[in-house]
Amino acid sequence: MRTATLLYHDVVPADQLQTSGFQGAVADRYKLSCDSFDAHLRAIVGRPLLRCETVTRLMSSSSDDGCPCLFTFDDGGVSALTEIAERLEAAGWRGRFFIPTDHIGQPGFLSAEQIRELHQRGHIIGTHSCSHPRRIDQLNDSDLQREWSQSTEILANVLQSPIECGSVPGGFFSRRVAEAASRAGLKVLFNSEPTCRWKKPGSLWIAGRLPIVNHTSASMAAALATGDRHTITQQQLVWNGKKLAKTVAGGLYRQVSEWIFSQK
Ligand SMILES: [Zn+2]
Repeated sequence: MRTATLLYHDVVPADQLQTSGFQGAVADRYKLSCDSFDAHLRAIVGRPLLRCETVTRLMSSSSDDGCPCLFTFDDGGVSALTEIAERLEAAGWRGRFFIPTDHIGQPGFLSAEQIRELHQRGHIIGTHSCSHPRRIDQLNDSDLQREWSQSTEILANVLQSPIECGSVPGGFFSRRVAEAASRAGLKVLFNSEPTCRWKKPGSLWIAGRLPIVNHTSASMAAALATGDRHTITQQQLVWNGKKLAKTVAGGLYRQVSEWIFSQK
């Protein structure tokens, strides 16, 4: 199975980066202005898109369905409701919103009531862990399990509906991370590997995503939305380079990133 799954975060009015989601230079890099997001949607309109599907429906669709596009949004910022939902709905689409549950109701983040509203409007809610740990792959077994099991339970209680999907905070995916997510009852785990391909090594589907940052142009977003191989290969090269840097330099990588982005 293949989907061109776009990985967005917040969408905020220009110069109001602090109004939604996590704060800081690295988080800001993933926040789009409303104008940029509108341009992305205009560029993607008319492409062969999949409407918001349940995981079950997606699983049952055949590979002949091509490479449909999915919109995903990480971090649970309040802009999911204040800016994003209405824009997607106006285009006839829905999104998947991944929530770090420890932040529910905090300033700049969705409240339980707002999460319910998104769900009632047809958007899909998934877990993005409890605490959004900096390195989920380095947690001990019990903490790792709590991140998936407790967040899934909290969201299921908020929605009175089972939670089927999650996304890995920071993209720090590993087999252990996936196994814990599977034990929490998730059926699909989205990571940040820039690929359209879905894999099912065990009982859990693993899906890659195509990251969007604040300088991603509308034409590039449209190319990614159609699963354009050349554009995705470019993303893979960058991603592999970053992965290597993170492995080699560890915590230093993040400090250097923070510094570089705060200079811009
Ligand atoms: Zn995140």
